[in-house]
Amino acid sequence: MNPPEAFVRLYELYFGQTASQAYLTNYAEPALRGLRVNTLRSGQPLPARALARPILWAKEGYYIDPQDGFGKDPLHAAGAYYLQEPSAMAPASALAAKPGEQILDLCAAPGGKTTQIAAHMQGEGLLVANEIDRERCLALAQNVERMGLFTTLVTQLPPSEIAEVYPHFFDGVLVDAPCSGEGLFRREEAAILQWSEAYLAQCADLQLEILRAAVRTLKPGGRLVYSTCTINPLENEVTCLRLLANYPDLELIDTALPGTTPGLSIEALTRIARQWPLLHAALTTLDMVAGAKKQELAPTALSRTRRILPHSGTGEGHFIATFVYRPSALPTTKSSYQRDRQTHTRKDNRMHVPPDWEQAWRQHAQAVLTATAEQRINRAPRSVREGGGQVLFATATGQAPVPVRGVLRNGVALLTRPHQHIALAHALAMTLTTSDVRCSLSLPYGDERILGYLQGESITAPDTPDGIVHVSVAGYPLGWGKAVKGVVKNHYPKGLRRRYTFAFPERTPSTLSNSSQKLCACIG
Ligand code: SAM
Repeated sequence: MNPPEAFVRLYELYFGQTASQAYLTNYAEPALRGLRVNTLRSGQPLPARALARPILWAKEGYYIDPQDGFGKDPLHAAGAYYLQEPSAMAPASALAAKPGEQILDLCAAPGGKTTQIAAHMQGEGLLVANEIDRERCLALAQNVERMGLFTTLVTQLPPSEIAEVYPHFFDGVLVDAPCSGEGLFRREEAAILQWSEAYLAQCADLQLEILRAAVRTLKPGGRLVYSTCTINPLENEVTCLRLLANYPDLELIDTALPGTTPGLSIEALTRIARQWPLLHAALTTLDMVAGAKKQELAPTALSRTRRILPHSGTGEGHFIATFVYRPSALPTTKSSYQRDRQTHTRKDNRMHVPPDWEQAWRQHAQAVLTATAEQRINRAPRSVREGGGQVLFATATGQAPVPVRGVLRNGVALLTRPHQHIALAHALAMTLTTSDVRCSLSLPYGDERILGYLQGESITAPDTPDGIVHVSVAGYPLGWGKAVKGVVKNHYPKGLRRRYTFAFPERTPSTLSNSSQKLCACIG
């Protein structure tokens, strides 16, 4: 489907005729695809065909050929990588989260940027991944689990409520905002059908509202990254100007990402506004607000924002801006939610875990984990969540506040009791390596039993002693099984099982080697 004609005319107005022609030429080509290596994992290196073409703005990102079947490869199910549109890797690079920080991903589903941020944090600190939409939040929780994230709290709340729970709390916040999606036109017809000037204005207003909530959660010195996958300046540069006009304590800093181009300058916006009444009206209103708040902005400031332009051929359209919160006085952390928040925090962190759960955890942990892995996991406080079956979690939040509602997952599920019987949780398996477990069935890449396991079948493993076994492929975790007389019964979650029509690539020197893999390693 062609992009809207009015959009193409505007594209020419923003970037010139040569750019809009290049845009249309590019538009006829298939959309670019990317793969991001999960650096939280320590399996065998990925095949060379996955790592041949690096993406400039994301050190763990690579362009891939969509025909290469990476989505169906068992390594995908094992969380060895995340498939992500190349441009979408830029915002988390801009946020540059560090181990030990407190980070919020406010519009997080399905989790591309959450899982990238978590990898940057290397399992230290707290990452709150929030998504307002229930269905999308479930997908987020599933990706968090597949990629083996340990210190992540997944919540489903409106941004204003997150701001109430976490006033001035985060070192870094990402607002990857809902937008008109002009950058994704060649991938998503729905974005083309939905496009109108009124819709752009509506998206811009929603973005400002979400950003306002985000600012309230920033610590002094905290960073805020605002990103969209759309092209028009009403949602991008003008939203930044509106935010700055409202919050003089925010400073727009350079999003210095290689391979990106500066955003549109104020001069460019003024020029465009002469021919685009909607932008003209927005800038006029902004002038009044900015005047009233005495916000002064250097004419070059907007060039600190960054764009990835679809006509460049390096990615779909994206916009990224980075702010730092520098309040002149220390902000108050009072919130109307605070009394509830404290009550709940106290309850959640010192939650009484029933003795049967503690005992079950000790037994399971001693049976399957090495002493080192058990100690590592036991460092996190445990809590039991009721509702839809019970789950014992190693919590992510430590002493940090926990919302009273909307928590989907706090840390890693260790044990579950869907009915009468307590069992090891799949999520735990996805955070473990073969060296964390007492008995592992480590299948070499290319072994057809991997596909059988992912489809829910029992698989043969003649040398495996009876008992619970951690199943993995090429060093990447897949889940649990139970070995009985040389057959491993399948404990892969029913909801994840699917028919696999995948054909392992022919073995070449560059594909994952299977010769050095042990079939089963158990320690007594
Ligand atoms: N960051 C995600 C990723 O990398 O996978 C993509 C996020 S997507 C661009 C924007 C998200 O904002 C959507 O998941 C959407 O459900 C959510 N959203 C929609 N309306 C919202 C609102 N009013 N407040 C907060 N989030 C909203």
